[in-house]
Amino acid sequence: MSRRKLIAANWKMNKTVAEATAFVPALRAAVARLAGIDLAIFPSFFCVRALADALAGTSVAVGAQDLHWEPNGAFTGEVSGAMLTDAGATMVIVGHSERRHVMGESDEIVARKLAAALRARLAPILCVGELLSERDAGNEKAVVERQLASAFQGVAEEMAARVVVAYEPVWAIGTGRTAQPDDAEAMHGAVRSWLSAHVGAEAVSMRILYGGSVNAGNAAGLIARENVDGFLVGGASLDPASFVAIAEAASG
Ligand code: PEP
Repeated sequence: MSRRKLIAANWKMNKTVAEATAFVPALRAAVARLAGIDLAIFPSFFCVRALADALAGTSVAVGAQDLHWEPNGAFTGEVSGAMLTDAGATMVIVGHSERRHVMGESDEIVARKLAAALRARLAPILCVGELLSERDAGNEKAVVERQLASAFQGVAEEMAARVVVAYEPVWAIGTGRTAQPDDAEAMHGAVRSWLSAHVGAEAVSMRILYGGSVNAGNAAGLIARENVDGFLVGGASLDPASFVAIAEAASG
């Protein structure tokens, strides 16, 4: 089964509107050159509208890094799925490890956010991944399967198929320490098996991204593995040349 590769940039709390839109010429040139690959940018909420406008007419998707699970209401500082689609977003990241481990989001909150993203017709990237202590204890697969089970509970198969899963071992995020291709493939294969068993036949076409200190040097080795369908890139996505170099490595 050939799945289109997706290379996604998580800009976290970086870039003003001017800095974000300065990225656009490089992205336009990259998509014109790199056939058969999808690109997506996840800027801060504040840059979604400007970036969506600047990338209109290209195949580059723009998404947000988070959303609230309610459609509206007294939730000071929060942003709903409808607000994101209104601003031009078509995708959203849910359950990033910084949301889980820095902001304290539980599996239950992540599940509510995934459901809200699907209700708002956004394509979610659901992040899962274990802590170093959990890997050292040999529990990485159990942790990831628990996160998947919680997030997909009650999600219908046709909706679930719209989800992109990103395996991001927490010990590899922003640390310069990347999972070896064999370790990444082992987990991606386990995620695919879990999806086949619990989501259904659509699992074969669902994309599973790897994230954790991906750069232009390690991308080719990772993307060569059967179940690695792209990347969620943090630090190395902040510079146009390095993000485009990763996309080039992924497009083979
Ligand atoms: C991320 O934040 O999703 C990420 C993978 O970051 P980095 O590439 O910097 O490790």
